Amino acid sequence: MNEMTASQLWQATLGELELTISKANFTTWFKNTFISALEGGKVVVSVPNAFTKLYIEKKYHTAIIKTLQNILNAPIREVLYKVDARPAETQATQVIIADRAAARPVEEPITPAAEVAVPRNGGVDEFGLRTGYTFANFIVGKGNEMAHAAALAVAEHPGVKYNPYFIYGGVGLGKTHLIQAIGHRLLERNPRCKVLYVTCEQFINDFISAVRSGHAKEFKDRYRTVDLLLIDDVQFITGKEGTQEEFFHTFNALHQTNKQVVLTSDRPPKAIGALEERVRSRLECGLTADISSPDLETRVAILSAKCQERNATLSREILSVIADIVQTNVRELEGALNRVIAHHEFHHLAPTPESVREVLAGITQSQAKKSVTSKHVLQAVSTYFDISMEDLLGKSREKKLAFPRQITMYLLRMELKCSFPTIGNELGGRDHTTAMHACDKIKKEIEKDAKLRADLDALKEQLYGVATKTW
Ligand code: ADP
Ligand code: MG
Repeated sequence: MNEMTASQLWQATLGELELTISKANFTTWFKNTFISALEGGKVVVSVPNAFTKLYIEKKYHTAIIKTLQNILNAPIREVLYKVDARPAETQATQVIIADRAAARPVEEPITPAAEVAVPRNGGVDEFGLRTGYTFANFIVGKGNEMAHAAALAVAEHPGVKYNPYFIYGGVGLGKTHLIQAIGHRLLERNPRCKVLYVTCEQFINDFISAVRSGHAKEFKDRYRTVDLLLIDDVQFITGKEGTQEEFFHTFNALHQTNKQVVLTSDRPPKAIGALEERVRSRLECGLTADISSPDLETRVAILSAKCQERNATLSREILSVIADIVQTNVRELEGALNRVIAHHEFHHLAPTPESVREVLAGITQSQAKKSVTSKHVLQAVSTYFDISMEDLLGKSREKKLAFPRQITMYLLRMELKCSFPTIGNELGGRDHTTAMHACDKIKKEIEKDAKLRADLDALKEQLYGVATKTW
């Protein structure tokens, strides 16, 4: 196996692991790891220090073996971890973590974003922007054309027309890419422009540590003197009152001086819970656009562009097969592509529709989960508890109806990731606070109620046709 292939294998492995591990953990433990040897079913993974080695061995070893085997479709005899502290640039086969650059490692000292390199998309610059996240690399199609057009307009006339610009949409649909593209465009036009990209988590952490260490003024200077402030995943600000207040003032300061603010979130402003009203109204006062899942044509176009970036050639037919299997999330789409490339290179095979389907078989299963809709959930609960749909959606507070209703809300939240307002609507026009309360309550009861756990298992089995345990 040549070096390139080892790198692709590890890249594909990380792509999978990334979907199952929290952001912070992923960055902390997998940054600067790479496959340094791969021979006869034995894999050596190089890690940057002894602590990481210990931790990965203890926590992620099984997941790593499983993922490697899945990708290679071959048994792995042994996976070893070796400490290799050579600096990043000297590693030919190294894969450095993408997309996690902004997340802060948990147990390691804080790494400035600029030191975290990125595969494929290049590094992260001094403003926190990844080099590949440009308009040029962003494929426009149904699902993102509005958000894209608005982003271009904002980049064209920052601070004037659409301030703030608020982008929302599900995971892995290109929000971070698009918000950063605005930053790149501004800097292209005027390299002296002050651009700052942070995740909301970073903003919160910065603020808290500034207050703690008595550096509030530095914080203000840093955030209130930029021309363009990009805050990613702003939904994490919920419940953080001090930070909300600071955000409010930061926003006002920038807005008053016609400096542009762009925000992203996984939901629209009105669905962000525990948000001060004045903050919400600030978020809503500019332009809001959403990104939804790409259609088939766009998915194929994205795959084709990613192939070009990787110098890989796959036929349109093969790309369509992949795009057909992975339908909702661009990040997963890239993951699937990596997997297909790595598998076929490793086995020196030309991909066929059958071989691609085989490699991606696991993904098809998890897609089954995604085809479940709220109707299915309502139906399943109504059948399981033997109550009519009318009663389930109705007003009666009788316990034998109220409880299944709460379970319905919980399932909508946990399984379909519905927003609380959506859940309220689905349940016959209830308030979002009712939905929040129901989910909290069921979550707590799961801990101590075995019967409830069994009920949920049974319901999930009905929904997915297989036994799953996700609580
Ligand atoms: P989000 O922030 O919405 O979770 P990201 O911006 O991180 O999603 O996108 C996930 C991955 O998918 C990134 O690698 C990004 O470059 C890629 N991506 C998403 N949408 C597009 C698109 N329209 N064209 C090209 N790449 C895209
Ligand atoms: Mg993002």
